[in-house]
Amino acid sequence: MIKKMGNPDIKVTILGSGTCVPSLRRSSCSVFVETGTQKIILDAGPGTMRRLLETGNEIFDITHIIFSHFHPDHTGEFVPFIFANKYPNENRRKVPLTLIGGKGFKEFFNCLKNVYGEWIELSPGIVNILELDNKKACTLDFQQFRMDSIPVNHRPESVAIKITSLNGYSLVYSGDTGFSQNLITLALNTDLFICESALPDNLEVLGHLTPSLAGKIATQAKVSFLVLTHFYPECDQFDIAKQCRRTYNGSFVSAEDLMTFELPLDLS
Ligand SMILES: [Zn+2]
Ligand SMILES: [Zn+2]
Repeated sequence: MIKKMGNPDIKVTILGSGTCVPSLRRSSCSVFVETGTQKIILDAGPGTMRRLLETGNEIFDITHIIFSHFHPDHTGEFVPFIFANKYPNENRRKVPLTLIGGKGFKEFFNCLKNVYGEWIELSPGIVNILELDNKKACTLDFQQFRMDSIPVNHRPESVAIKITSLNGYSLVYSGDTGFSQNLITLALNTDLFICESALPDNLEVLGHLTPSLAGKIATQAKVSFLVLTHFYPECDQFDIAKQCRRTYNGSFVSAEDLMTFELPLDLS
């Protein structure tokens, strides 16, 4: 049981606990992080804006979008998000928007501009685009939080992402990955570990984790709380918690859309 204290240092909302598979229960991948006045979206799969509205936030409030990789279930809302920021015109957005992705992100965005042109152009004064190294860990220091990334085993541009508040509380989001020593390194001693668990143990595929592999990483990283997410429909037919328990004794939950967490955690 996690108690909610109000006025947290970091608030985390699972916007989408699903995958590419259309589901009324699970929107595609996205996690919403609020710390100070900063509002950060980690991945923006289809349906992200609608789920964001359900949290009471507007797209114009978002300060950062960080992509773990470019698969459509993690980026599908990118084009509609930028387009919606131009309605009725760019003046609606008062805060700058920082867009971050792995190696090739600028080219990815430019290719989309070749298709959509000015429909997804925002003025340079309002948008800032950053690209992460796909060979080594990176750190970006923003005014109200620190972001760390590390390459993981899924796509060449794939990274896991860590957000640390000014007071030192942190969450780690795995993105998509197979078993990864780098992910253990990034997640070491983190407060909240949001980890993909795409398929049940018996249906493991290359480049994705299972409940017991996610549990193994959480155990080795000594995380305070584990959240399993990115569930293909097959997961709903098995006892995911039991499979995770094979390798992990700590606190955890299987994500549902709009589930929230507050840091610091109160696990009493
Ligand atoms: Zn993927
Ligand atoms: Zn995915």
